Amino acid sequence: MLHFLAYGNSDQASFRDLEVRQCFDILTVPSTIASYYSDATAAFVLSSQLDYMIEPRTPLFQEMLQAPRASHYTLAAEMGETVNAHLNKGGEVVDGNSRYFSPEFYSDDVCREMVTSMVDFQRQYGGRSAQITDKLNRYRKLLAEATGDSGTTERNDEKREPSYILCPYFAVRSFSDKWWKVVGRTWNAATQLDDPGVISPVVSMSDPSLLREAIEQVPSTLSSKVFFWIPGFDEKQASLHSLVQVRSVVADLNEEYDLFNLYGGYFSILLGKFGLAGFNNGLGYSESREWPTLDSTGAAPARYYVRKLHAYVSTATASAIVEADPAFACECSVCRGGRLPTELTYHELKRHFALARAWEIEIANSASLPDLRDTLRADSSRCDNLRNRLPSHLRIPTDHLNRWAEALDS
Ligand SMILES: [Zn+2]
Repeated sequence: MLHFLAYGNSDQASFRDLEVRQCFDILTVPSTIASYYSDATAAFVLSSQLDYMIEPRTPLFQEMLQAPRASHYTLAAEMGETVNAHLNKGGEVVDGNSRYFSPEFYSDDVCREMVTSMVDFQRQYGGRSAQITDKLNRYRKLLAEATGDSGTTERNDEKREPSYILCPYFAVRSFSDKWWKVVGRTWNAATQLDDPGVISPVVSMSDPSLLREAIEQVPSTLSSKVFFWIPGFDEKQASLHSLVQVRSVVADLNEEYDLFNLYGGYFSILLGKFGLAGFNNGLGYSESREWPTLDSTGAAPARYYVRKLHAYVSTATASAIVEADPAFACECSVCRGGRLPTELTYHELKRHFALARAWEIEIANSASLPDLRDTLRADSSRCDNLRNRLPSHLRIPTDHLNRWAEALDS
């Protein structure tokens, strides 16, 4: 199972950490960051020696875009002239500071222009190395200092392309949604480009019961490495019924497609047992994504990921849990020696999360499905027992553990 870890602008130091670098397979770079901090991000990514992909983030330009920020303008400039002009000249101004992108705006021509432009942006990303040699040198040095590696980066490696090229996409609610037609136009545009077989579609469908049919409608000339996003689907909140539906889609389609969940957590790791090829999440956030609030990125709050809960809680709650029952203590290199979650710095919390995720992938790989289900149920009841001994105002989420166990049953 491939683990994609998304990069935020405050995460450079974390991604230079030797242990963190071993916790994932592919670095995901949001196109907003790639376009806004363009030289610095390219220098960081291309000198990192990491496999990477660029996430197009095109749903930012879907329906209402409120108070566009500088990174929206830089990304629009990469999405082709028409999108750029619409944002800058205020095509459909709703009020002083908002823009509206209707499904009608994305005509065949606009989709062709946008898809061509965004695919080129990704394909030519490695070529940026030639224009940023000074910055590359600086980032190469920072990496060498952080990893203790005296800088054996191959220059050719710095020209490498992303491991996956993603087709622009939009959030879709159902097949009668007008945005579904727009998605069809983007796929059609992608099939007209050179080498369409390496362009991965991102299938977005907020109703999990329609996900299978949506994936099956991907044109066969595009890559069978398919990313999916279920807007608003949060593994920890999702109903048993929805979880089972997603499991069935993965189980039924994994021979025909390599399926990657664009926003997932531990439930997606468990879906590896049913053939999920990979999942993506942020270093401390983004295990699910709502739409239309796709632009709510920003520094993650100080939360601690409790391994046995497969969930974040506040650092105070996490410390109370660990103090009440040492079985919940973590043995990673950050937490070792009895350090409490409240004692960890911001970067240590992130490093602990990366290590916890690697631990989750490892236990899922090495244990059988029945054992993993039993562990979920046992950890849930262990936590329920603990609750009686802790102040009642502490919120400790456990319902998802039993729900996941049940969703993986049968
Ligand atoms: Zn830890």
